[in-house]
Amino acid sequence: MGSENISLDKLPLKTIWKQIERKDFHFYCPGCKKERRIFSPPKVGTVRHILQVVATTAFFTLITWPLLTWKGVVAFVPFWAIFEAFYRMRMRAVLVCNDCGFDPILYLVDSKKAAQAVELHWRKKFEQKGWTYPEKKQGLTKSSPSHKPVIHGGK
Ligand SMILES: [Zn+2]
Repeated sequence: MGSENISLDKLPLKTIWKQIERKDFHFYCPGCKKERRIFSPPKVGTVRHILQVVATTAFFTLITWPLLTWKGVVAFVPFWAIFEAFYRMRMRAVLVCNDCGFDPILYLVDSKKAAQAVELHWRKKFEQKGWTYPEKKQGLTKSSPSHKPVIHGGK
């Protein structure tokens, strides 16, 4: 499918909007190697983000014009801070892999905690299926040979 040569793409009239509107972002989960698609790049501060905050500031300046006149533009700073905080929060929730429970942001902060989060994710998955989670044995040599999950009950 990649051999299509659409001449429209090569028009010099490419506007900045085209780039801004390309919202979704692809990456591969480091935990399970699955392709992930999220609504926006993980990093805050793209042209689109700045324009959003500029638009908000412009609106704020407009409605507070009788009070603050042009000084309303200073609101860009707190608006940006709020935007960034919310964006990071949202991104954290979105970046966690649904398949394997890998949290890339947590991994960067604390890899041990990220490993625990993945374990917790699998424990929940096993619980949902009604399986016993294969606990890690302290002494590996004296462990039983069965590594398979034990299925309770059945149909
Ligand atoms: Zn994953």
